[in-house]
Amino acid sequence: MRKKSLDLYWLEAMKQRGHLSDEEQRSYQRLRKGFEGELTFDQLCHQFLENETDYLDDVTLDYYGDVSQMDKIIKNKNIIYLVDIKNYQGNYVYENNALRSEKRIFTNDIFEQARRSRRIFTRLFADYHLPLEIKNVIAFINGQGRITINDELPEIVLNYEEIPMWLMSMRDHEQGQNNDWQKLVQKYQIQFYKNSRFCTKERFKQLKKGIHCEKCGSFSLKTKRYTIQCLCGHTEVKKIGYLRTICEYGLIMHHLPLKRSEIIQFFGKKYSADYIKNTLINYFIPLNMGIKDGRYQNYGRPFDYWFENEDINLDKLVKRKNWQTRF
Ligand SMILES: [Zn+2]
Repeated sequence: MRKKSLDLYWLEAMKQRGHLSDEEQRSYQRLRKGFEGELTFDQLCHQFLENETDYLDDVTLDYYGDVSQMDKIIKNKNIIYLVDIKNYQGNYVYENNALRSEKRIFTNDIFEQARRSRRIFTRLFADYHLPLEIKNVIAFINGQGRITINDELPEIVLNYEEIPMWLMSMRDHEQGQNNDWQKLVQKYQIQFYKNSRFCTKERFKQLKKGIHCEKCGSFSLKTKRYTIQCLCGHTEVKKIGYLRTICEYGLIMHHLPLKRSEIIQFFGKKYSADYIKNTLINYFIPLNMGIKDGRYQNYGRPFDYWFENEDINLDKLVKRKNWQTRF
């Protein structure tokens, strides 16, 4: 399943609890639009590709220091398609080796970026003797966006309405059973892009305290014995609400260890300090084993990332929610 970038998660958390600067707001909009475009493309793939299609989502590759980020990689026959998804509105023209819109010429050339990725992947596959051809695909996913290509380009450039046909063109071809390419890509894949933003201690103090509803964002929640209930009708297992909020603190302050006293502050007076302490003891790793200084390892990731391999225990908690709602 496709996940948001840590930067986007961070900006969302800060927006929910305070104000974003103009620059942050612009980045937030841009990242959110990008993510929405990727989800739309995934939906089209789900609709028009065959189930057994060989693909990878969201790959950040580091091949001997050359880093490349791909939204999607699809393999069909002996071709690897590196897909860049662009959620741009308005009219764009590519002419004389430059991309321009009605207003400006882009210095950050998306075609040059795509070619750079192709060079990195070509080198990787050549080094490991995988005989695969690599092609760039640039997909304009926004129905209100359009690109016109006036140069001869080796890249496949698709406007929104051309995407389904292109995906369908990959049907009815014998899919190879060989997954060597995926294993190779995963070998050089970096799992998490570093979060480039920081929250100062002064700014942290200004943030809104408490647990917010995971569905509607409201901070006016009622804590029951085993659940947290929101006026919007959403109910969350109490343990998960606490874990999620501790992770949110960890994400916002990802450059520092988890600090128990600050986490208690982050929850605010409405929430039980003892419950927070126990949750930390049961689910987090002390920074200095043996020394009880209330500091825990901070992975700086939202709940979905942090506990993604512990589904079994958390699933049990979710199942219990149903019979515990009455408390
Ligand atoms: Zn709610």
